Amino acid sequence: MMQAEPSPAEIRFTGLSASAGFAAGPVFCASRGERGAYVRHKSPDADYAHLVASIEAALETTAGMMEKASGDAADILEFQVAMLGDDTFAEAARALIEAGSAADIAWSQVLDQEIENYAQSEEEYFRARTADLTDIRDRVLRALRGDSEVMITPGTIYLADDITPSAFLVHDWTGGGIALRQGSTTSHVAMLARQRGVPMIVGVGGGRVDAGSPSILDAKAGVFVVWPDDATVRAWKDGRADFEAAATVAARFAPRPARTADGTAISVHVNIADPAETDQIDVGHVDGVGLMRTEFLYNSGLPDEETQYRAYRKVLEWAAGKPVTIRTADAGGDKPVPGFTIEESNPFLGVRGIRLCLAMPEIFRVQIRALLRAGVHGNLKIMLPMVAVPSEIDQARALFDEEMAKLAMAGTAFAMPKLGIMVEVPSVAITPERFSAASFLSIGSNDLTQYVLAASRDSGALAAIARTDDPAVLSLISNVAAYGARSDVPVSLCGDAASDPTLVKPLLKAGLRSLSVAASRIGLVKAAIAGIDLGDRQT
Ligand code: PEP
Ligand code: MG
Repeated sequence: MMQAEPSPAEIRFTGLSASAGFAAGPVFCASRGERGAYVRHKSPDADYAHLVASIEAALETTAGMMEKASGDAADILEFQVAMLGDDTFAEAARALIEAGSAADIAWSQVLDQEIENYAQSEEEYFRARTADLTDIRDRVLRALRGDSEVMITPGTIYLADDITPSAFLVHDWTGGGIALRQGSTTSHVAMLARQRGVPMIVGVGGGRVDAGSPSILDAKAGVFVVWPDDATVRAWKDGRADFEAAATVAARFAPRPARTADGTAISVHVNIADPAETDQIDVGHVDGVGLMRTEFLYNSGLPDEETQYRAYRKVLEWAAGKPVTIRTADAGGDKPVPGFTIEESNPFLGVRGIRLCLAMPEIFRVQIRALLRAGVHGNLKIMLPMVAVPSEIDQARALFDEEMAKLAMAGTAFAMPKLGIMVEVPSVAITPERFSAASFLSIGSNDLTQYVLAASRDSGALAAIARTDDPAVLSLISNVAAYGARSDVPVSLCGDAASDPTLVKPLLKAGLRSLSVAASRIGLVKAAIAGIDLGDRQT
């Protein structure tokens, strides 16, 4: 009798979870596929003209995709359209073509160099955008060579160094998932995967895998296994069942007001950036917007007053009277904005957040006017980021007063909302009573944690140190909560810790009664709250 071939041994990869979820299927190895050869023209001028036409074709395709997209997807494609519309790359390629290179080689060289610069950048923001540049490079190359777009087989686990935003956007990921050898949890694709519930892990590293091999992906734990053995498949199925059960519970809890097991009411707000996100959120599931980050408005240059006013008004109208806390621009640190932020050797401790706005009052005044005008459309609260000393609140308030006087003179409708601050610099958390000029406080646990522990928030190597449940951070959080309770100043927490169901208990035990969470975590966090007994003695 013929012996059955034994299955190959299991190959296990571990990485970081970029979008939690479970998937199983054959591995789809992204290869560059069969490429049409680029046929050179007789003269460098004709070669260059072909390149320019290909860039225009790529621009048209990307702009077409942008028109059909919404929210973050549209912003990502807008960034790509802006890059394709800038002729710096084409000019650099022209010099190479004139020196004897073929158009496709010249374009690849120029883009590869730029991709390398982005990849080596110290700023996570730029590193996370290498996939956008790869996208641009490949789309122009396909146009030059007459190739078609890469098709990913449905229901597979996509394995590659990275994936471009457009490849992600055109594919139907139902039943499938993504394991990237490189990649970043803060990249555009990671953000889109989280929004769309596509399981994805990053940083799984090298190792040979044959296309078509059976595989399982546990993107909650960050594990990808090729040729899994029976025990691994059983554990994966258990994990998937738990994950699905938690999702069902979350869906059940999302519409209800949040209450602990002992009956304490907790406010649950949502964090947003682009107003388009509100299209996917049921306003009945939240107590308002606890943090609207406004940096997205600065993605493609400095936004004018009208653009900002429209964005703020849309969210206020959606909230229908519930409070909407909009944070003034928090540029700098890990969020550089060309034309606004300053080059510094240590940007996390530099001129960022409110410091930058006060240093650039003409840019800040535009946002102030837009906010004052939007204030008439709902229950607006304004929050200043990165405040470190009380005088920053006074200086900001003086600018609001000046702009109000101008709007009144011009007969323009406006309303002055409550002005509060983020608590993300230890000086505020240690002595919150010195900041009594703030009408409310919202703890930015991401930055507070990194500053208390001197551990960068974007360093994977320091993740075990940069923990919000470190006793030092929790003691500062309870100091702020106690100040709020005795002085009747509302205190909330809007950092990522609020969205982590395992951290909700220590946060409530520290005295917090208001949290602001990622839209995808509303139900999960409410379910976690329901399981907490604040009367029990264990922490
Ligand atoms: C924070 O620091 O916790 C916060 C909410 O601000 P951001 O993450 O935008 O810096
Ligand atoms: Mg912050």
